[in-house]
Amino acid sequence: MSLGGKALQLAREGLFPVVSPGRRTATGLAVSGTLQGEGKLAGVPSLFLRLYGCNLNCVWQLDNGTLCPCDTPSAIMPDMPVTTVAVETLAQTIAENMGILRHLVITGGEPFLQAQNLSQLLELLKAAIPDLHITIETNGTLFHRRTAELSDLISISPKLLSAARGNPKKGKSAVCLPVLQEFLSLRYTNNHPDIQLKFVVAETQDEREISEILRQLHHFTSYDLLVMPLGATPEVLASTIPLALEMAIRNGWRFCPRMHITLFGNKEGV
Ligand code: SF4
Repeated sequence: MSLGGKALQLAREGLFPVVSPGRRTATGLAVSGTLQGEGKLAGVPSLFLRLYGCNLNCVWQLDNGTLCPCDTPSAIMPDMPVTTVAVETLAQTIAENMGILRHLVITGGEPFLQAQNLSQLLELLKAAIPDLHITIETNGTLFHRRTAELSDLISISPKLLSAARGNPKKGKSAVCLPVLQEFLSLRYTNNHPDIQLKFVVAETQDEREISEILRQLHHFTSYDLLVMPLGATPEVLASTIPLALEMAIRNGWRFCPRMHITLFGNKEGV
């Protein structure tokens, strides 16, 4: 099938972690793949694909005033290297590197910025590897039905007011309720991908905003809802974990650890 020259823009890490025979990945392993560190599939060996570009520019502010910018600058900063890869080539490269893995995580940046071409990639991958499980990670501000329906798990991380507070140019919450509801309503379609709502917790007032968002949404269960402490370093996590933990227990929300930070730190490409 010819896709008429469709391509995707990849961030510096691209497809990761992959390793050629006799070499090792940044995890120190001699095989391709790492663990999904967050959410319902935490601990599942997976390959990752990081797409370039984002429509947001998150800078969190903690209760103590500390500013925490986006932890994937390679996917959002204009001066970062970008690789443009034909969709057919990328599908082939992914298939060659999956090995025994059956979980692919597509992240960013914001993957839905490239949704049209991404849906073509997903179609090729589903045809090549019928039992492949695909997670797409998104900030929940953009919707594309075909891409969403071809996914197996849509991991939505809505960006609360705290994610904009440290950015002087954008002082408001980026939560887009109609888009979140579109994703949640996919449960009632034929393909019904699984959904998780993963709220990053950075400051006390996040609790009220999450409650207000949930009050306005439907078609989700408590199993789909996770609160995750902000932090790409153990130092930041030390201040946000107690906050997220208390919120989770107080509201009956599920606490979501960041396993990859504990295991690997904030290294790129693991
Ligand atoms: S939405 Fe995600 S990738 Fe985009 S700026 Fe925010 S944290 Fe970074």
